Amino acid sequence: MKRMYRNRDNTIFIFFVDKKIPSAVVFKTADEKFNVVLIKPRLFSKTIELAWKNNIYKREGGELYNLLSNTMNGLTRMHPLVPSQIKVFEMFNTIFTFHQSVNKSRLYQILTVENALPANTFSELFGSIENGAAADVTVDGIHFHFPEKMRDSRRKEFINILLMVKDFYKKHGLGNVVTGEVSFSKINGATCGFYNIPTKSIKIDPATKDDNLTILYTIIHEFAHKLMYEFLPPNVVGEISHKFNDLYRIGGKPGISFTSFPIGSILKYTGKSASYRGDWVINDVRPGEITARSMEAGINIRAKSALAFINSGFEPYEKNDLEFHGVLHSTLQLNHKKGYKTDAWIPTTYAGTNASEWFAETVTMYLCNALIGEPKEFIENIIKRA
Ligand SMILES: [Zn+2]
Repeated sequence: MKRMYRNRDNTIFIFFVDKKIPSAVVFKTADEKFNVVLIKPRLFSKTIELAWKNNIYKREGGELYNLLSNTMNGLTRMHPLVPSQIKVFEMFNTIFTFHQSVNKSRLYQILTVENALPANTFSELFGSIENGAAADVTVDGIHFHFPEKMRDSRRKEFINILLMVKDFYKKHGLGNVVTGEVSFSKINGATCGFYNIPTKSIKIDPATKDDNLTILYTIIHEFAHKLMYEFLPPNVVGEISHKFNDLYRIGGKPGISFTSFPIGSILKYTGKSASYRGDWVINDVRPGEITARSMEAGINIRAKSALAFINSGFEPYEKNDLEFHGVLHSTLQLNHKKGYKTDAWIPTTYAGTNASEWFAETVTMYLCNALIGEPKEFIENIIKRA
């Protein structure tokens, strides 16, 4: 949920994802409680369209149709709730979910954990919640926030995975890193984990289709971000980013040649035929040679990072000799490589994204005993100072 409106006295808040129909409306009541209406916008528009077209509700004098549209008008025009609307929520419980008179920590859970509202937006609107929302369960210093619907067996599974992650860190004297808020909520994009710097919390997508081992590696990686941002002194964080920059200067032909190719450069594309939307200047690509038609391509590629560019299937026409060619795409692939060890400074292509991802990937390799040689020594020396 991104767009948001509120009335002047901050008693009604309306959240939108994109369209005209809100996805959530929050009413603050006189006793400092909240009534929350969650709406499925797509299902709502479809239902109302159908009702209009087919006069489904005509038999009842159009009453239901009117109720439904009045309800939506009421919701979007910031009127307080009336009993007839509450009746509609119950009647159309596939479209609406109504939570009556919930306290602030339950509101936090509904909006952020179950509906992906950023936690910092929540505290801007409703004030902070001490120690985050009341956790569903706290195990070994980890506060778990589960969506209400999640089955007990799945909750236990996630708790076990987190305790395994903690063991990896404990073995290296870093058990205290694996503590704090861990919430389970939708994440946009392909990843199943996310570390939120301002709220210092870790999010895991409960709908992830990944196997538990992949989820384990993801969570180890996210806690490595936590280690860097919360447990390392600023000068050590500085050393990490210097090291990353050095690696790019020395072994780093890639960054330079990819990010600043001039108009007219010929690129080699080895991926599948595809179309790129929006800001990509090269729109339709087929395997073979491609001419860069505008500077913007270079700018966008810089934004997406040189390595993302390589992974997209593009290569500069001249064959390069990247040191890290042929390594894993990300630590998640450790999954398929039992006993894998590497002494590569940039051990995965994803590690080349930026200093922070480089650190997280390298630490993950290290904790899983997949890192050897000089990079291992470097990481050992860094985490000693946590
Ligand atoms: Zn990361």
